[in-house]
Amino acid sequence: MRVWAVSNQKGGVGKTTTVANLAGLLARRGERVLVIDLDPHSSLSAYFGFDPEQVESGVYDLFRAVMQRQPLAPQRHIQPTSVDSLDILPAAMALATIERQAGAVEGLGRVIQRALGEIAPDYDRVLIDSPPMLGVLMVNALAACERLLIPVVADFLSLRGLERMLRTLAMIGRSRRQPLPYLIVPTLYDRRPRISADTLRVLEERYGERLWPSVIPQDTKVREASRAHLPLCHYHPRSRAALAYETLLDYLLEQEGHPITQAVSA
Ligand code: ADP
Ligand code: MG
Repeated sequence: MRVWAVSNQKGGVGKTTTVANLAGLLARRGERVLVIDLDPHSSLSAYFGFDPEQVESGVYDLFRAVMQRQPLAPQRHIQPTSVDSLDILPAAMALATIERQAGAVEGLGRVIQRALGEIAPDYDRVLIDSPPMLGVLMVNALAACERLLIPVVADFLSLRGLERMLRTLAMIGRSRRQPLPYLIVPTLYDRRPRISADTLRVLEERYGERLWPSVIPQDTKVREASRAHLPLCHYHPRSRAALAYETLLDYLLEQEGHPITQAVSA
């Protein structure tokens, strides 16, 4: 089982969209896929048609189990989506209270990693959607994954957000046995304003091979697909964004054997 997380300390950069679409593509290619919604805003759950107010159990229950020293039993909280071969561990409203409760409790940083250990035989791949704030939920996402995608929008404010995210990663990374390989993915790309190309150039100069050498374009079909609660490949498979996500997935799978490791300073 391979575990990827999608994270950035900035909202609205396409994290949830990236998880939903890569997961849809992987499922269509025959993998058994699980997506995990670690954002208290429940956007990924909503994407797949789950109303956070109606979700009875989900990620929150795993944390509660650990706090109450009960078995995790993650299978109990996983639900099928309308897409074949794609399951979800949804976020319920209660997840919003976790950050406050977790402060006083030790050992909540690896709850998701432990849960995944129990369901490893059931899935080929897990994709984790992370919240935009640094806290116990993001720490869980970063601890559980073996590879990280960082979506960015090509404008200068996002560059600063990206730097902050990379500092966080360096800080958290110290507690990992191995550095976490990451890939920066330009999303919501609007090729009209000059600032877009300028920003891409800066990204290239600064991050070199840790930048995906292509972009996910802005495409109105993305919102239409999410309104239909379906990944693009199940709704508008020939749309520009769908094809771009397909290219991104091919790139990621090709690199799976040889992930880009963090540069070692000379
Ligand atoms: P995040 O999870 O980082 O907050 P989302 O994936 O929810 O970001 O995306 C933010 C908004 O932008 C959503 O309304 C989503 O539908 C839209 N969006 C994301 N990617 C694209 C795209 N490539 N083209 C057009 N709209 C997009
Ligand atoms: Mg989101």
